[in-house]
Amino acid sequence: MKRVYSAENAFDAQIIRDHLEHQGITATVHGNMLTGAIGELPMDTRPTVWIEDPDLYERARDLIAQFERARPEGEQWICRHCREINEPAFEICWACGRDRET
Ligand SMILES: [Zn+2]
Repeated sequence: MKRVYSAENAFDAQIIRDHLEHQGITATVHGNMLTGAIGELPMDTRPTVWIEDPDLYERARDLIAQFERARPEGEQWICRHCREINEPAFEICWACGRDRET
């Protein structure tokens, strides 16, 4: 196991994990969800993304860098329909499913 990413929040960590898995890299999120409970960073509440195979570290870092460059600009946005706060990466509201622009 090797840590490849330290996320802003659990949501962010999950996006990165999914992205790596889509590329065939087995990854897990540790941190504030307490799923791992590995205790290596007991004071750090930021969720982290770990990969199973340390040999894939360089590739994982590349993928994350690419992903972050491709990430839509901007801040969190508030849905006009239900007032839910959404992450910038999302084009539709996660709560009500309506389009960001409409
Ligand atoms: Zn909404």
